[in-house]
Amino acid sequence: MTVRPIRYLGDPVLRRPAKKVRRIDDSIRRLILDMTDSMIEAQGVGIAAPQIGVSLRIVVIGMPDEEPYALINPVVVRRSGERRLDEGCLSVPGYRGNLTRSMRVTVKALNPLGREVRVKAEDDLLAQALEHETDHVNGIVYVDRLDSTDDLVKLEAPFVRARPGESGERALAGRPSEDDA
Ligand SMILES: [Zn+2]
Repeated sequence: MTVRPIRYLGDPVLRRPAKKVRRIDDSIRRLILDMTDSMIEAQGVGIAAPQIGVSLRIVVIGMPDEEPYALINPVVVRRSGERRLDEGCLSVPGYRGNLTRSMRVTVKALNPLGREVRVKAEDDLLAQALEHETDHVNGIVYVDRLDSTDDLVKLEAPFVRARPGESGERALAGRPSEDDA
């Protein structure tokens, strides 16, 4: 497992729609471990493969106090409602933006075992992360969703959130509570 450098806004890999994963092999499993380590190191709650320079449709979600898990070829199949939120991104350090996200989000994906799963969230950090990370694999960064640049705020100090030390290995096992589709 390796922490890989985070790519920042301006890097073309963040703007490219990423390629679909055709086969979940050892290289994909290694990538998921690296993504998980890189996310934990950077104290993020989610990461997409393009953020470490790999143009593949894979995201890892790491909610506080929950084991991180990977979603392969994620697609938002349902979204409804609206809410205003503050948001940040590992690829846009030192900034926060205020934007509109959905209230309810359902993502369909494969877990690392190749099983189709659905992750549903409503009015919480997970719903926000699902939309944010799925955007990344489509080449969209949250700053694209701001109504105006006035909604982007420069932070006084880097945004840091404490996080207990964790191993990314269980990200390969799939999410315990996920619904089988
Ligand atoms: Zn991001």
